Parts: sequence; structure tokens; C-alpha cells
Amino acid sequence: MCFADDLLMFAGGDLHSIVALNQCFLKFSMASGLQENLEKSCVYFGGVKQNDRKQILQQMGYSQRESPFKYLGIPLSMKKLSLIQWQPLIAKIIAKISSWTAKKLAYVGRKLHLPRTTTITRRALVAWNKVCTPKSTGGLNLVNLHLWNKVAIAKTCWDLAHKKDKIWIKRIHTYYIKRYQLEDITIPQQASWMVRKIFEARSTLDRISITFKEGKCYIRQIYFQLLGDAPRVYWKSLIFKNEAKPKAKFIMWLRLHGKLLTADRLNNWGVQVDLLCSLCQTKHESRDHLYGSCRFTKALWNRLLVWMKRHPFSATTWEQQIQWALKSAKGRSQSAQAFKTIYAEVSYAVWIERNKRVFEGVSKEVDNIARNIAYLCNVRASPGIRSLVQSWSF
Ligand SMILES: [Zn+2]
Repeated sequence: MCFADDLLMFAGGDLHSIVALNQCFLKFSMASGLQENLEKSCVYFGGVKQNDRKQILQQMGYSQRESPFKYLGIPLSMKKLSLIQWQPLIAKIIAKISSWTAKKLAYVGRKLHLPRTTTITRRALVAWNKVCTPKSTGGLNLVNLHLWNKVAIAKTCWDLAHKKDKIWIKRIHTYYIKRYQLEDITIPQQASWMVRKIFEARSTLDRISITFKEGKCYIRQIYFQLLGDAPRVYWKSLIFKNEAKPKAKFIMWLRLHGKLLTADRLNNWGVQVDLLCSLCQTKHESRDHLYGSCRFTKALWNRLLVWMKRHPFSATTWEQQIQWALKSAKGRSQSAQAFKTIYAEVSYAVWIERNKRVFEGVSKEVDNIARNIAYLCNVRASPGIRSLVQSWSF
């Protein structure tokens, strides 16, 4: 069994088998040039007599260790692992994510230093189940690992009923299913935790109708069946084939969901904030104001529309603004594709400018921001829309 550069070899617990296996490994080593690291290699015995152990160890030159052993910090075991046993892996993953968010995530919202005692910092902007749905239904198309795991076990259960030539399946049939049908027997309580989970997954299989592709059952297929169909979001055209920066698209996505932490929302949660829009200083800040009627955003769009050689447009409400955007982004034309990219970059630039003013007390002129967006679109444009974008001069 091989994973990355680790190799697990199994053999009968007698000198003859071990020597034969070792010869195979040496041949492989000669042919491939790959060698074992003696310091990291060891032998685990199960049911081998003391005398035989001694002989094997002398012959091989490896040290002996006791099972269960750890792999990537986690004990390899047939039993269900406790939370404490998972802890080393959890700690590693958390450390990775923390350094990643600190380095890469420019979402300025994390600069909101809210007191640790409030529950607000733990409030998710968008529900995880939503995030894990396809982009057309308003998600980010991330895999729902909880559901995926459930499906992977259900697939193993399906294999148990259909692939009787596999060695582990033969074993389960011999010990637990015997001459009965898989669906007829009760869950064997004496079986290991893993085997019991596979039996339990029959209920997942019952809930779905698997259509077979060449007699195979795909995890992906069951996963999407269980995920179910959700209604499409009306703004999906803005998301697809958008060449803006990923973080710009993310802010636009939050904005379209109405989940940006604008002053009105924070205020509703009981956070003391200045309600006045930091961009125009005239109205209260809300998503609808910031991206609909705000003088600053309108001025930014006007400057960009001149650059794009388009008719001026002035929305007074968020509704008007989004309808205009959807119309402009409709279809496969170059101008529709360029518009989407610019729309996402504007969403991002407005939000960043708002955050800079609120948290750092610094501001930029509309013209400056518009020029930067024009530059970004020039740089990021794919060959399909590059000629169009480059034909506009700022
Ligand atoms: Zn404003």
C-alpha cells in the first residue's frame, strides 16, 4: 500500500515470507533507484512468536514498534477515533488556515475588532450550506464535506451489494451477511465501527434513485441527488465568465446576497457605529444606498461609462441599478463579459474605499479609483475581450 512517499508492506509472519517480500522490494529499489530510509522504517508484528520476531528483525535490520501506529499524527485504527486523537490533525489544519487568512484574505471586514464576548464575530456572513451549493443557485460551489463523506460511505455500501469479487467485501459477506441479502439483515453489533457505519448507510441509499452508468455508481452522482435542487438566483449571469479578481468577485457575491457588513446591519445587531455614509456624508449607509443612490458610486460609474463609451446611467435605487447591470451583462458578447468584470471590480473598489475611510481615515478621488479599475481590466482581460477593453482609452 503506497501513499505519497510512504509504503506499507504486508506479509505472513514467518522468515520465509519476509525474505521473499524483501527481495521483491530490493528489485524494485534497484530498478527505480528509490531506497528506504532505515531510520524511518520499522516492523509491526501481530500474532508472531517471540523467536520468529527475533529472526525477522535480525534479517531485516529494522526496528520493532507497537501498533496502533500513527500516520500524519493520527492513530490508524479500525475503531472510531476520539476527538483527542484527532486533535493533532485539527491543530495542523487550523494553523494552516490561520496563516492563510492572515496572509491572503484582504476582506477588510476582518479588521472589525469587535469584543470577543459578543457573538457577532462568530456570525457567518452566508450559511455554510448555501456556500456549498452550485454558483447558479447562489453558492460558491464548495464541496459539502459532511455530505460528501456520507455519500462516500453510501457508495461503499452500494459496492458491498454489487462488487462481490473484492477481498474486503468477500470477508464481510462471509462473516456478517452469509446467505442473506444485504438489505434484510440487522446491523451486526459485534462488527467494527466502520462496518456498522457502512450498514447504516443503507438508509441513505434508500433515499435516492441511482441511475447506473455502465454498471457503476459514482459518488458525485449521489452527492448531487442528495444536495437537491435549489432555485436559481436572478443574478447568476454576473457570476459566470467574470474575469475580475477572485476577491472582487467574492465581495460582489456578498453584496448580491445583501451580506456586506454595512452600518445599517451592524446597527441592527446592536453594534455602535457611525450610520452616516463615509463616501458621500449625506445619507445613512446601507447596501442599497452604497450601491444604488450614493453620489460617490454614481460618480465612479459615470467616469467608467465614459471610458467604456457607453450611455450615462444614473440609478436612484438599488433595484434600478441591479436591473441595469443584469441587462448589460446579458448574453455572450464581448461588451457583456467586460461589463461583468467591471461590475465586480466596482463592487470591490467601493467597499474597499468605504473601509479605508472608516478604519484608516484615508480617501481616494473618484478619478483615481476609476483609473485603477480601467488598468486592472486591461491587465486581466482574456484574449476574447482584450481588443475591446484596449480600444477604450481612459
Ligand atoms: Zn453615500
